Amino acid sequence: MIIIDGSLGEGGGQIFRTSLTLAMCLGKTIRIENIRAGRKKPGLLRQHLTCLKAAKEICDADVEGEELGSQAVVFKPGKIKAGKYHFAVGTAGSSTLIFQTILMPLLLADDQSEVILEGGTHNSMAPTFDFVSKSFLPVLKSVGCDIDVALEHYGFYPAGGGKWQAVIKPIASIKPLLLLERGELLGESATAMSSKIPKHVGERELRQITKLCGWSVDQLQQELVGSVGPGNVVSIVVATKNVTALFENFGEKNVSAEKVANKAVDAFQRFDEAQVPVCEYLADQLILPMALGRGGVFRTLEPSLHLRTNIDVIKQVMNVDIQLSRLNDLVWEVVVNKSV
Ligand code: ATP
Repeated sequence: MIIIDGSLGEGGGQIFRTSLTLAMCLGKTIRIENIRAGRKKPGLLRQHLTCLKAAKEICDADVEGEELGSQAVVFKPGKIKAGKYHFAVGTAGSSTLIFQTILMPLLLADDQSEVILEGGTHNSMAPTFDFVSKSFLPVLKSVGCDIDVALEHYGFYPAGGGKWQAVIKPIASIKPLLLLERGELLGESATAMSSKIPKHVGERELRQITKLCGWSVDQLQQELVGSVGPGNVVSIVVATKNVTALFENFGEKNVSAEKVANKAVDAFQRFDEAQVPVCEYLADQLILPMALGRGGVFRTLEPSLHLRTNIDVIKQVMNVDIQLSRLNDLVWEVVVNKSV
């Protein structure tokens, strides 16, 4: 049995989810200890427990420690089964993180799967549905993956109520990823999306973006969407030939609309200065598909602790060489080599 220490590096939920994905795809039994030891409230929260239940269901796993608050889980996977699944977090916890946990095993299964997901679709500290559909999945498409997603209901924290579906076609082998350049700039735009929030909030966010980025009105749009609870997210989208990058920030009580926009612009400007194709968040999300596929190389910003921790977990479970090298002050290269 492989033992993973959940207090490693970032010490958060990603260590747990990555371990589950690796266990399923490689057919290895894993024990994860000290789960989320780096967080204020350690152990499994509803989102992580839903990941565990989803993982168990798609491969008939034997599981120990399947309860809220659990700080140690043993996961013994069986054979991955393609099929129709429905996973609901039951709170506003991120449903995209459930999706990312089961995506690789279902891609490597022998038939198509259809998955309905319920919970949060737009959470801070997690990829939003838009991040998944516009940034993450198109990169997977470029290495041969065929995954369609469709949003039915928006779900913002804390009310949740989001619902979406994914159709995942099986793939024999994921091609090596080569993402060194962005390619030609196709467009830059910003969207202020809100549900049950006064319209002026989104207007002010967009005005602030115009002020900081000098963009014209045709690059800005306000979306008023329906959702069971209130929510507001501002998102800057940079579309280039090889990749689309998203920089999102959520409206919060007692934080001005201008400050919310400033944070998204800061992240965008750091990325733009470096002219890399892969943002900080996409970097930690791509490493697992690359390790389970045929590797590859991409350029990104300075590696986050999430990326470094994810690499450590992957290296503990499988034989793969992953190198991080600094090319200059702003640009890093990540190489995943499967031929070790
Ligand atoms: P906890 O930190 O409470 O354990 P968790 O299980 O939700 O929480 P993390 O281990 O922090 O998760 O992992 C969060 C994931 O969400 C990472 O893969 C990270 O790249 C992604 N993420 C966080 N913020 C963003 C963002 N703004 N845009 C895209 N992805 C994001």
